[in-house]
Amino acid sequence: MNSGSNSLHRRLFMKVQAWWLIATAVLACGAPPDEDLRQTQAVELPGTRNDALRAAAQRHQVPLELLMAVAEHQGHFELPNKSGELLDQVEPEAPVADGTLTVPDPSHELAAPEGLLPSEVEENALETGITEDPELDIGTDPADQGLVTELATDIDADDPEAVASPEDNLDLEKEGSAHDDIDLFGVMLLSQAQVTLASSLTGQPELLIKTDTAANIDAAAALLSHHAAQAGVDTASRDLAAWKPAIAQFLEAADDVEVSALAMESLQNLYLDGFNRVTEDGERLTLQGMGRDVGTALQALTPGQYPKITFIPASSSNYSSRSGGRVRYVVIHDIEGRMDGAIAVFRNPARAASAHYIIRSSDGHIVQMVRESMKAWHSGHGFFNANSIGIEHEGFANQPRGGGFYTQKLYERSAQLTCAIAKRYHIPIDRKHIFGHGNVPSNLSSTRLCSDAAANSGACGGLSHHHDPGKFWSWSTYMKLVARCVKGNPTTPPPSPSPDSTDVHGLIFRGTDNTKPIAGATVRLGIRSTKTDANGHYAFANVVVRGARNFTASAPGFLARTVSRTVSGTSMRVAFGLTPSAPAGTAVLVGVVYKGANDLNRVAGATVKLSNGRSTTTNKDGIYRIGGLAPNTYRITAVKAGVGRGSTSRAVTNGTTTWGSVRL
Ligand SMILES: [Zn+2]
Repeated sequence: MNSGSNSLHRRLFMKVQAWWLIATAVLACGAPPDEDLRQTQAVELPGTRNDALRAAAQRHQVPLELLMAVAEHQGHFELPNKSGELLDQVEPEAPVADGTLTVPDPSHELAAPEGLLPSEVEENALETGITEDPELDIGTDPADQGLVTELATDIDADDPEAVASPEDNLDLEKEGSAHDDIDLFGVMLLSQAQVTLASSLTGQPELLIKTDTAANIDAAAALLSHHAAQAGVDTASRDLAAWKPAIAQFLEAADDVEVSALAMESLQNLYLDGFNRVTEDGERLTLQGMGRDVGTALQALTPGQYPKITFIPASSSNYSSRSGGRVRYVVIHDIEGRMDGAIAVFRNPARAASAHYIIRSSDGHIVQMVRESMKAWHSGHGFFNANSIGIEHEGFANQPRGGGFYTQKLYERSAQLTCAIAKRYHIPIDRKHIFGHGNVPSNLSSTRLCSDAAANSGACGGLSHHHDPGKFWSWSTYMKLVARCVKGNPTTPPPSPSPDSTDVHGLIFRGTDNTKPIAGATVRLGIRSTKTDANGHYAFANVVVRGARNFTASAPGFLARTVSRTVSGTSMRVAFGLTPSAPAGTAVLVGVVYKGANDLNRVAGATVKLSNGRSTTTNKDGIYRIGGLAPNTYRITAVKAGVGRGSTSRAVTNGTTTWGSVRL
């Protein structure tokens, strides 16, 4: 309640501030030319989201249902509001100048979470102790009895081996942050680049697009329309698939097949299921779904079984080896945004951040980006990174229900995943082993977890004091779901192995001769590609094991070739040859014409004729040669008066010489 009114207050303030800034800017520049005034006043922007969506759809010729689905996909019609006031008060703790890390005095950590007096912790506990969400209905279950779902006080991580050493934190020097600085504006979550482009398209000032909901929606429609025109989309079509190129551009995922496919799947779900949403400030938005033929219930799983997972590898610059650590904790995060953004961050080698898994809000779809055997960089604390699995969730820590992203499906599917991880690594189902990023101590030499109250206040949360998943994450719901899953079937067989991956290496060579490597050949596997080295070798690390995959190699002067191989094991080799490409009509047939069983018994002066009409005569050694042939299968007939006649057939290809000797 408190937070809702605060947030509304803040939003009104932002709006007033925005107009004030625009007015100030206009005054500062003197009276603008008449034309500019007409431009900014030409569009009468309606006041509510529904009005804005209708007007924008009409103005920019974008189907209303598409615009609504995109808005729902982007941010559930709520403002990103991701820089929460709690976080803003705390400066990240940076490594000291000489490159070593500041390790706070452990005695300080034991007294109270950094930056807060004990009395303040208590106050925070009262205000932030939200562990139930009335919108979620998980019923009751005997398995819930006695389950402690809250971390009421700071507590030592429950593991005799849990001793943080300075070496654990070496990687932290280069670790970035998984989810704190993607700037997105307005209910359409527009990037700065999109705001700039939209401003040039609509004539609206950038500040207005960033701060006014109607202008923001109008800008999104203008962008969709712009991308549709560029991609040649039939804008009369109401078919989602027809708009795909424009949507992919809008979501800034056009050059990423897998990410744009994920986004299209999410929009398709919205088209099928529709939505009926009431925003935080009370506006209802409804899209009638087309309905599905089959139920959309979550996949029923044996407790401990991993749910279906898509593997999209993070940049190898963004994670490292566990160096002796093992999986004994699960750390829960939220992205402060959507799945697409997190995937982009984790694939960007400059970001130095990653998590093992990301879970989508709309349907619980899971993307894995780092193998469980590796150390993802997610919690800003060397020991906890080395000893945990990090799971990111769509949503925003400072908004009720995560800004609408903390859905029942999100909790259920995430709980299935944590259940499988817990079974696989024998992790106890309690808050000492399953906790939030905010519960991770900021003291890098400590393994003492912070209470939920301290976590939500931003006092802990690793090096950068992150407080996700925040006070609106329902630990009660989550822990009950995990506990029920784990206890669901005590006689369950051992868990199925995690979706694992393998290292693929191989050789690309010339033709059928594997002693003639091709250097600089491009080898592609899905969206990944690499080049062969001077010895024709290439390698792909962490290829997910999921049956047959297509490997395609190409090189200048050779025909591209695709082979399909079943990816399995921990290491495998895929080697294959490329046929030299050559200009058309460069096949050559050569052969000898001989008499009887002995091919040394050559016949000179024999007439050799091909089925395409070309002919020649054998030389003194009985050899013939016909070049300049198109690829085909030719009948070769040889005749020598008084000796005899014979024929054979050969297939030829461009750039190669084929032997076709004929016996008379
Ligand atoms: Zn986090």
